[in-house]
Amino acid sequence: MVDEAAFKRVMERIRPDDIVALARKMIAIPSPNFEEGKITDFMAERMRELGMEVTSMDVPHPFQKERKTRQAVGRLKGEGNGPTLMINGHLDVNVEMPGWTVHPTEGKYEDGWIWGLAAQDDKGGLAAALCAISALREAGTRLKGDILYCPVASHKLGGTGTRTLVKNGVRADYCINIEHAANTIGSVTVGSVRVRLRTNTPGLFFRFTKEARDAYFNPIEQQALFISKFGPSLVQVPQGSWLTYTPHKELPNFPMIRYDVVSKEHYGRTCDLVFQIRTVPGMTLEGVRKDIERVVAQCKRENPALDCEIIIPANGPDDPFYMEPSELADDHPLVAALTRGYELATGEKPQVGGVERIGNFGDGNVLHAAGIPSVQFGPGNIKLYPEWPAPDERVHISELMTTARTCAYAIMELCG
Ligand SMILES: [Zn+2]
Repeated sequence: MVDEAAFKRVMERIRPDDIVALARKMIAIPSPNFEEGKITDFMAERMRELGMEVTSMDVPHPFQKERKTRQAVGRLKGEGNGPTLMINGHLDVNVEMPGWTVHPTEGKYEDGWIWGLAAQDDKGGLAAALCAISALREAGTRLKGDILYCPVASHKLGGTGTRTLVKNGVRADYCINIEHAANTIGSVTVGSVRVRLRTNTPGLFFRFTKEARDAYFNPIEQQALFISKFGPSLVQVPQGSWLTYTPHKELPNFPMIRYDVVSKEHYGRTCDLVFQIRTVPGMTLEGVRKDIERVVAQCKRENPALDCEIIIPANGPDDPFYMEPSELADDHPLVAALTRGYELATGEKPQVGGVERIGNFGDGNVLHAAGIPSVQFGPGNIKLYPEWPAPDERVHISELMTTARTCAYAIMELCG
């Protein structure tokens, strides 16, 4: 438990003006995916100012050899023998959607709203968390454990920056994954498996003999057969049909699939279908593979000319888009600390579970799979917009204050 007077001293030092100023500076530095170098340097400088040990690292592109970006990690050392808490959020921004009414990097600030690309996803939350750390330091808070502040690159490419952290041996005992979650505590998240089915035919479309005709099954029609078995996108795969799972009460309508790619050259003999399955806790890569193999085998029995290669994950064993689902109990120390922090910050009870992030995953999933318990927690309500990504992204300073205060409390409780 955290001493209330000590927390009050920290709260008083979390100043809205500081958060707004930092968030606006971050928004003003453009940082599309894999072009995070400039903002990384800016963040490294801010972290050094707070007395953090800063480590910079290259982040190699998962698909394009030679291409890389960079990210920096800041460690604020505790006095020793306490748990390490990671704060992880991404610096790469969404694609710029048409329809912005302000310039996406001008950082307009009006009536408490900060506008701009990444205002809520994730620069605003990262700014709030860093100001929380600054307030802890200013208040002279003594912590046993370390705070590890990780503004990562390339979240949009399957968490490539965070995967690089893990590969480079960065470890922590807990992680708050700053993602816009309307300051709900996202302790249950879906995972994602991409599946590639590559159908093949022995010849093209001229089939003169009966034998040749019998051996021919158009590769697109093979995919159509599969689609008829897998069912429609964006609805729950019915229980007891082709996919094996136990429904999760925090993730209604999941698991679900979504078709992403069908491709075939005019004169090509193969056709690729790529679809993803958003999984629920309890589902595994192996389990999904077996379910897909069963469907393909059944189709093959119905149509002996069917010829299909199954590739799971779709981009090979190191597929950056493979994510495991995650789940933490309400009484897990990380969830409990955020819950208490939110209550003290707002005087209200937080929503805990899947809530605002149902169907989404984040870098927390990568860390969770690497053995670092993670939750998603951050400012910004995606439901402000008819769809996401959206133009006119914005976040309110009151939300950022809640994020900062809640994070400060969780740090004090977990690292204290
Ligand atoms: Zn995000």
